[in-house]
Amino acid sequence: MVTAALKKKIRRILEDSGIDCAEFETEQLLKWSLGENYYITGFDGEIDGGREKTLTEAAIRRARGEPLQYILGEWDFYGYTFKVSEGVLIPRQETELLAEKTLPYINESSTVIDLCSGSGCIPIAIAKESGAKCIGVEISREAINYFNENIRLNNIEDNVRAMEGDVLNPKRELLEALPKADLITANPPYLTAEEMQSLQREVRHEPEIALYGGRDGLDFYRRIFERWKPILKPDGIFAVEVGDEQSGPVTEIMESKGFKCKAFRDYGGTERVVLGEIQEKTAKQRPISP
Ligand code: GLN
Repeated sequence: MVTAALKKKIRRILEDSGIDCAEFETEQLLKWSLGENYYITGFDGEIDGGREKTLTEAAIRRARGEPLQYILGEWDFYGYTFKVSEGVLIPRQETELLAEKTLPYINESSTVIDLCSGSGCIPIAIAKESGAKCIGVEISREAINYFNENIRLNNIEDNVRAMEGDVLNPKRELLEALPKADLITANPPYLTAEEMQSLQREVRHEPEIALYGGRDGLDFYRRIFERWKPILKPDGIFAVEVGDEQSGPVTEIMESKGFKCKAFRDYGGTERVVLGEIQEKTAKQRPISP
């Protein structure tokens, strides 16, 4: 079959299953399957039967609702490539805002701790951009395997380290092994019980542990600021991604833990990142015990 005909066939499979960006996804699948040949063979280049079969099977998986990113096995975040597949959250474009808004606060002599790292996209992008030393804490073994692979893939072994741990109940040994941080970042699970009931079919393939943040989605925020603030330097920054309509409640939680906060909107206009500085005044204003 020639490229043009195969492309038409793949696009038809995607369109028939109601995929919105069928043209874009067809292109992505063709590039993935043909590699450099995609640019070389041209539209009338002949595609061998094996490739046609692989590509058709991939299109069928996609038509059944598997995320494109899992089929391709990798996805870009902040201009870097990350391995992803079933078992790890796909890096989202809006999460780039978290990296972007925290970068001005750090440099190559900074230490950054990222909580709930998943694929490692946040600490790896931050380390690549700033030269800072980054440590990512992640609970899932499966995700840590991707995280470590992504550290190697991005040649950032000297600056990024993945550590296994539960950010809600960090072990003493973990806390003691960590240096004090200039910046703590987190994109914790924040979807509500209601949102979990109406997930897009693609998102249903992603690990629940990376998505579900308790009934109102705020479980992690209620606990991480207090747990992790002792690891932050006095002039440190704590920055988190939040779900739709969570920036108000998260700011309130953070402020009650002694942070002075500001929120940043993503490209869709939603307040997506809340960034807090430790408010010295809180400590000073605290009544002195007799
Ligand atoms: N942004 C993801 C979604 O909307 C959720 C990721 C998270 O819970 N941190 O599907």
